[in-house]
Amino acid sequence: MSQLETQTHHKDHKTSEHNPMSNTSASAAEKIMQQARAIQPQVGALTLAERASFMAKLRKVVLDQQDVIIDTIQKDTGKSRFDALVAEIFAVLDYIEFLEKSGPKILAPEKVPTPIVLFPKKSRIYYEPLGVVLAIVPWNYPFYTGLIPCITGFMAGNAVILKPSEFTPLQGLMESLFYKAEFHPHWIQVVYGDGKMGSDLINARPNKIFFTGGTETGKRIMKQAADFLIPVGLELGGKDPMVVFNDANVERATSGAMWGGFCNAGQTCTSVERCYVQSGVYDEFVEKMTEKTKRLTLGTDKDGNSDIGHITTDDQRKKITVQVNDALARGAKQLTGENWDKTSKYIPPIVMVDVPNDSIMMQEETFGPVVPIIKFETEDEAIRLANDSEYGLSASVWGGDKAQVERVARAIVTGNVSVNNVMVTQGNSHLPFGGVKASGFGRTKGSIGVRAFTAPKSVIFDGNNGKIEPNWHPYTSKKYGMFRNVTRYVFSGGVLNLLKAGLTAVKMEIYASKIGKNGR
Ligand code: NAD
Repeated sequence: MSQLETQTHHKDHKTSEHNPMSNTSASAAEKIMQQARAIQPQVGALTLAERASFMAKLRKVVLDQQDVIIDTIQKDTGKSRFDALVAEIFAVLDYIEFLEKSGPKILAPEKVPTPIVLFPKKSRIYYEPLGVVLAIVPWNYPFYTGLIPCITGFMAGNAVILKPSEFTPLQGLMESLFYKAEFHPHWIQVVYGDGKMGSDLINARPNKIFFTGGTETGKRIMKQAADFLIPVGLELGGKDPMVVFNDANVERATSGAMWGGFCNAGQTCTSVERCYVQSGVYDEFVEKMTEKTKRLTLGTDKDGNSDIGHITTDDQRKKITVQVNDALARGAKQLTGENWDKTSKYIPPIVMVDVPNDSIMMQEETFGPVVPIIKFETEDEAIRLANDSEYGLSASVWGGDKAQVERVARAIVTGNVSVNNVMVTQGNSHLPFGGVKASGFGRTKGSIGVRAFTAPKSVIFDGNNGKIEPNWHPYTSKKYGMFRNVTRYVFSGGVLNLLKAGLTAVKMEIYASKIGKNGR
């Protein structure tokens, strides 16, 4: 085993607490990239069934190791045990199983129709690996956001380099799981460091960058990638609206708003950041939400009995403090969590009303356990308010009128909508996930998201015979006339025209082959 192999491949994640890669320079990033490039043909040569079998092994390892994984996640992030179980372990297992079962079908060579004028050729799409995929990921769901691009990239035949957030490295954990699942250490390598390391890895020219994180960082990464024409997938921030109509079930909607706003201490890219409630149920909604929110508990115990953990970084605590103070200074009212001293990273869930639209809280991503509730009157107003944001990651719409909720779900400019539920689209691995506007572009999960880690190659197979194509040289006015007729018949529609097209095409082919061999 080479020195770098030893550095990136840890048998037991306890042995990796001091990681020699943490001071890695640009030249080490280059070295990691070379290792990835060298191994990639080996990954690409595995059959889809073989790659799927590694998913099966990984699924068993994750299931087996779930307590160790949750302990590490809790240590790095401070989230509640239940949050770690649901959104990191369960969600990851579901996606691994999806890749194991559906990956081979999604990535298999695809037959597509061949138009009649190209008869009898055959058309195929091959979903080829891109090469080396670089995944740069954030701290809010370090296990989930890290593992998803790694295993999708691998399943598509790529070598992968993962750069976790410097705040939640989960030191040695991923390597340990991949080792236990019998992955070669260079198939998926983990490199620790901050933004500088991410940037050095981009300079080493991966074949795709899959970035999850803040919008400003996403812009920087895209600019850097542009110099090398590296394709990027960007999963960025959100300011997700929740729209509640008068005929919604208020009991369910308030519990949904609480979970959507406060799970993971609000540090979810798709968390409920703005809650718009129609005037007929506004008072009841605010009252119920306030009452239920006051019953939520804070803690990071190991028995899964606390609702909300603490904020992961102190910078995030400061941002939330600024937003709450700004809203209060502009006349907003805080209905819960008034006992927070603004210095603790344990932030009690905060419900706010009368928050003005021009406040920081309504304009920028909060990424904390804060839900502002805003009253609206009409459907048009709700749509206008929901769309009044530079972001477009996710949304939820609540109500009993099926036509109305569907109309509003269609009208909100966003990547995902849950109807009478919240953040549930992420719960189905068959659905693509991603945003529009400042929330980024590109998709993960679903067949679209899996194929996003491939280079689709289009191939047409023709016969090895003496036939000369009608559109090849030499050109003559007779052939021009025939081609003109075929064009008219093919695109005029109707069975008769199609028959005429077929007949003329056959004549044209015979003529084209004759003049192709003998000259005009
Ligand atoms: P961040 O943008 O600060 O950092 C994300 C990653 O980028 C980290 O690994 C960091 O080291 C790296 N990085 C920073 N500067 C870099 C550079 N110049 N070049 C290369 N890499 C660089 O984000 P964060 O604070 O860790 O995460 C919070 C943000 O992530 C929020 O905005 C949240 O909405 C977003 N997020 C989005 C999704 C999604 O799927 N859309 C999911 C989770 C989080």
